[in-house]
Amino acid sequence: MPVRMDNGDVEVFTGWRVHHDTTRGPGKGGIRFHPHVDEREVTALAAAMTFKTAVLDLPFGGAKGGVRCDPTRMSIGELERLTRRYTWEIMPLLGPDRDVPAPDVNTDGRVMAWVMDTMSMVHGEAISASVTGKPLSIGGTAEHAGGTAAGVVMCVREAFAALGLTIAGSRVVIQGFGKVGAPLAFLLHSAGMRVVAVADVAGVVMNSGGLDIPALSTHVHETGSVAGFAGGEPVPHDDVFAVPCELAVPAALAGVIDEAAATRCAAKLIVEAANGPTTVAADAILDERGIVVVPDILANAGGVTSSYFEWAQNRQGIAWPDGVAADRLHTTMTDAFTTVWVSAQTHEVSLRRAAYIVGLTRVAEAITVRGLFP
Ligand code: NAD
Repeated sequence: MPVRMDNGDVEVFTGWRVHHDTTRGPGKGGIRFHPHVDEREVTALAAAMTFKTAVLDLPFGGAKGGVRCDPTRMSIGELERLTRRYTWEIMPLLGPDRDVPAPDVNTDGRVMAWVMDTMSMVHGEAISASVTGKPLSIGGTAEHAGGTAAGVVMCVREAFAALGLTIAGSRVVIQGFGKVGAPLAFLLHSAGMRVVAVADVAGVVMNSGGLDIPALSTHVHETGSVAGFAGGEPVPHDDVFAVPCELAVPAALAGVIDEAAATRCAAKLIVEAANGPTTVAADAILDERGIVVVPDILANAGGVTSSYFEWAQNRQGIAWPDGVAADRLHTTMTDAFTTVWVSAQTHEVSLRRAAYIVGLTRVAEAITVRGLFP
């Protein structure tokens, strides 16, 4: 994708949009802007979306997009021109009934607005249902931004109840204090949990009595990081999952819970807010150690479920009354949790394997009943 940069040069970027499976409905998945994006990563993330939408029983398939770029070194104008050219290149794949992008790493409502506008200008009509995670003024919803964190909390509550643990006073460690981790820390703190450690890219802070999350949030707002927060002690990054706690929530990067972290993990329960935070080898160690893992394709699906509600309202041409989306998110998440939990008990497997059993079964059924064309 050739893009005119602010200094007059033309830079050529590479990007992808992958449809993994669209048997159950239009492709659904985010667009990420990151220097390390490649075809394999986008394909793997698209596959995860197929199974995530199936586990939640949403009428979508799996898709994902990515552009290899460093948005931290680009101006707003350069990002807009890149977004519009990328949208134009992948437009044959897109549309409310084909593939509906959403924000992901380093993209937001502003980027979604450019995608929606580019599609709408080319087609000559305002196509609000073409993307989700949009600004409110063009058909976005208030519930979308916090949907992922809210869904994680619902999984935490269900898992605590199933394991006979008590929320109030229990300790939680959160890695990541971004779009998911920050609201999550607030919600768990408000629910009466002690947030004993929070990590971000620049540091980790720990307080075994519980961090003051509103004060930490102010500190992050002022300094850009949790590092240096006076209400806690610094801890090395490698030790974050060894901090004593009942619950650990990775909400940052993929592959952070490796064999070493799994061996030292002090939690009874891990709820995966991030995509792919646990390596395959680590998963086996956690299983052996009896640490329960609520897998990403269930735990962080509050985001795509909120996207589904935004898309549905855009298609209906009517905004749902206050509270309806929150109620439906709760029902959808808790139903999916119960289905996966029962599948794990029935098949005597981990929640991750159970979630894939549920997802793969639904995709396979859809492929079977549709049959072969022609
Ligand atoms: P974000 O960019 O807003 O925040 C990421 C956070 O991780 C930041 O606080 C950053 O400092 C921290 N981080 C980065 N590198 C780190 C490191 N080495 N050690 C510790 N912390 C580090 O991203 P986000 O939207 O909050 O997404 C976080 C994860 O959740 C990603 O895996 C994403 O795919 C997944 N996810 C996000 C959504 C969503 O709605 N945003 C939905 C589903 C899944």
